[in-house]
Amino acid sequence: MTPNPADDPSDAEAGDADIDADSGRTETESAEAEPVEDESVDADRADAERIDADPTGYDAGGRRDVLVVGGGVAGLTAGVFTARAGLDTLVVNAGESILRRNAHLENFPGFPAGVNARLFADMLEAQATGNGCDLLRGEVTSVRREEVKGEAARDGFVAEVELDGDAADGGERTTVAARYVVAASWSDASYLDGLGVDVRDAGSKRYVGEDGLGRTNVEGLYVAGRLAERYHQAVIAAGHGAQTAITLVHDSDVPFYNDWVTPEGYFTGRGREVPPGCEEIDDRERRARERASMAAMREYFSEPHPDRQRTHPSLVDDELGRVPEE
Ligand SMILES: Cc1cc2nc3c(=O)[nH]c(=O)nc-3n(C[C@H](O)[C@H](O)[C@H](O)COP(=O)(O)OP(=O)(O)OC[C@H]3O[C@@H](n4cnc5c(N)ncnc54)[C@H](O)[C@@H]3O)c2cc1C
Repeated sequence: MTPNPADDPSDAEAGDADIDADSGRTETESAEAEPVEDESVDADRADAERIDADPTGYDAGGRRDVLVVGGGVAGLTAGVFTARAGLDTLVVNAGESILRRNAHLENFPGFPAGVNARLFADMLEAQATGNGCDLLRGEVTSVRREEVKGEAARDGFVAEVELDGDAADGGERTTVAARYVVAASWSDASYLDGLGVDVRDAGSKRYVGEDGLGRTNVEGLYVAGRLAERYHQAVIAAGHGAQTAITLVHDSDVPFYNDWVTPEGYFTGRGREVPPGCEEIDDRERRARERASMAAMREYFSEPHPDRQRTHPSLVDDELGRVPEE
């Protein structure tokens, strides 16, 4: 059962005397084991080799838990949450987020003087891969129900992907199998044709219907961002990407309470187990993460972003020279 955000159990956090233990979903062992340095480096290298060899994992009969179609604001945010919840997540992105046309992003929380939108989009991509998402550059051209013995399976999907031309395996096609699909691909929903998903056409735009929490009428298919007809703002797209991802995590059989990083003893100091999705870190770890984040932001903000300003496609050859040449 998906909790309605309106009566979120964590709201009881402040008084939190008696979180319902019967469900068993809030009381489990701590989410995070201490990584051992060398093994993780080898594991990363092995991971990289595995992904290069078979980016979708399909050939190895692999099935991803989550396929996110669209690596823009909503899609990458959704990927951060599903990957952090422990779901094996692949984000497939063609082209670039429409946000990269913005001239200066001034209304996204956390940037007092605003931020270069292309830098913001790069940082969001790094945050998604840094939290465990795999990223594949390519266009999803179709999504259909997985077939078992020639019959459409009750759950699971198979997506066809046309890999980006400039990727090593230029323009080739590949296939991804996934239990869940998140459509976060403004403004394209054509690959969903044939799945019977509810859509609304408004002029040249097509929106995908949802239940207010990101679920479409097709089991296992979710929608996030502008494609779900949410307001055309980056913070809204990010928020809806997160909401849709958490709905998906609740619908999956992954135990999940909230995605919180808390100080040591926050739960255990009150006789509680660390709930699923949460993590307790000690002061040494907290300082180490703060130093790492400061170093990362210094790096990101050390130079003006190199990418040139984009504009509307119909204005590219702007004789008024409003868009700087390469
Ligand atoms: C000029 C301009 C300025 C803006 N300025 C602001 C601003 O100042 N503040 C603000 O809050 N918002 C601003 N916005 C709006 C903001 O950019 C959007 O609301 C937000 O990016 C929507 O997020 P999204 O994830 O739904 O779509 P996007 O961020 O566009 O992401 C969708 C991604 O899916 C990819 N995709 C599409 N089809 C496929 C497919 N078949 N397979 C794989 N990938 C696919 C797209 O190429 C894209 O990368 C601006 C928009 C524009 C156009």
